[in-house]
Amino acid sequence: EQMHGSCAGCGIAIQTADAKKPGYAPESALGRKVVICQRCYRIKHYNEVAPVGMGDDDFLKILDGIGSTESLVVMVVDIFDFQGSWLKGLPRFVGKNPILLVGNKVDLLPRNINLNRVRNWMQHEAKERGLRPEDVVLISAQKGLHIDELLNRIGELRKGRDVYIVGVTNVGKSTMINRILHDYGAAELEITTSPFPGTTLDKIEIPLEDGRSIFDTPGIINRDQIGHMVSPTDLRKITPTSRINSKVYQLDAGQSLFLGGLARIDFVRGERQPLIIYVDNDLYIHRTKLEKADEVMQKHHGTLLVPPTGEEAAKALPPFVKHTFKINKSTMTTDIVISGLGWVSIQGKHEASVVVHAPKGVSVGMRKGLI
Ligand code: GDP
Repeated sequence: EQMHGSCAGCGIAIQTADAKKPGYAPESALGRKVVICQRCYRIKHYNEVAPVGMGDDDFLKILDGIGSTESLVVMVVDIFDFQGSWLKGLPRFVGKNPILLVGNKVDLLPRNINLNRVRNWMQHEAKERGLRPEDVVLISAQKGLHIDELLNRIGELRKGRDVYIVGVTNVGKSTMINRILHDYGAAELEITTSPFPGTTLDKIEIPLEDGRSIFDTPGIINRDQIGHMVSPTDLRKITPTSRINSKVYQLDAGQSLFLGGLARIDFVRGERQPLIIYVDNDLYIHRTKLEKADEVMQKHHGTLLVPPTGEEAAKALPPFVKHTFKINKSTMTTDIVISGLGWVSIQGKHEASVVVHAPKGVSVGMRKGLI
C-alpha cells in the first residue's frame, strides 16, 4: 500500500482506499500543502463529527488509558436503551476517576414523566453494574435541551481536571459533542495530536480556558443493542423520533400483545386492568389470545408482526427468551422496561403475572413507574 503521510489534524496515517476506515482522505486532497483526513476536515469545516469504524481492541486501548489519568469521565447513555448503552468493563477503565452520567434523548419522554425518578433509576442501574456516578444529567443533544446544565455540572465536577467523554455508538454522543463544540465556538476548535500512551489513535480535543481539555473518545459497538439485531430501516421504525404518546390496552388474563415482531407481552394472571405501552408512536401493536400467540408468531413473524420486516429478517433475530414478572399489589406503578424498545406500565391495584418474550441479549427488567 502506498504511503501518504499523516494527517496534520490528528496524526493518523492517511489512506485513500476506504472512506469508512480511519484516516481516509480523497485523492484530490493529497495535492494540498497540508493534508488532513476527512474526519478532521469535517470537524474543521462542517462542525460535524464523523463516526470512525475502529476495532473494539483499539477502543479498549483508549479506554484503558483513562484509568491512569486524573480526569472527570462523562458517560453518555440513551435513556431508552440503558443496557444497550452500557460499556462493559467501564468501572475497570475509569479507575478512581469520578463519573458524570448523561442520559440523552430526554425529548422523547412523555411530558408527565417524573425526571427525578428517571435519574434515580439510572443511578440504580449504574450501581448494579458497579459504577457510582457523582450525578445524573438528562439532556436532549438533538434539541439542545439542558446543555447549559450539562456544561455547568462538568465545570463543577471536573475540579480543574481534564474531561473524557465516553459512550457506545448510537447513544447520541456525536450529536452531543457537536452541541458542545457549537457552544464553545467551533471556529476556535483545534484538533491536536496528543495520542494516549501506547496507542496511535487520536481523539477530538476541545480546549478549556484553564489549559485543560474535553476529550471525545470513539464510540464502541455494544452488540446487545436491539439496534444491532435489525436492519437500519427497521431500526428507524423502532427508534422514536418524536415525543412518545402512551397507548392504553385493557387486558384480561390470557391475552397477549405483540410489539411489532420484537417483543411479546403475555398477561398471564390477574384481574382485568390497563397495560400502558410506551414505544415508538408508529410501532404496530397486535393483540391476541395468549393461547394463540405462539401460532400467530409462527405464521406472521416478519409479515404482520413487523419489524423485523420480512421472514428472512425474522429468522435472523436471536431466539426469543422469556422473562417472568410478578407484580405485587401496591399503590405504586411498575414499569417493565424492554431495552431499546420502550416500556410497559402496570398499576399495582391488583396482583398480576406477566411474561415478556424478547430476543436473547435484549435486557428486560422492572423499575418503579416513572409517572
Ligand atoms: P453516536 O453513535 O453515539 O455518536 O450517536 P449519534 O449522535 O450519531 O446519534 C444516534 C441517533 O440518535 C441519530 O439518529 C440521532 O439523530 C439520534 N439522537 C441523538 N441525540 C438525540 C436526542 O437528543 N434526541 C433524539 N430524539 N434523538 C437523538
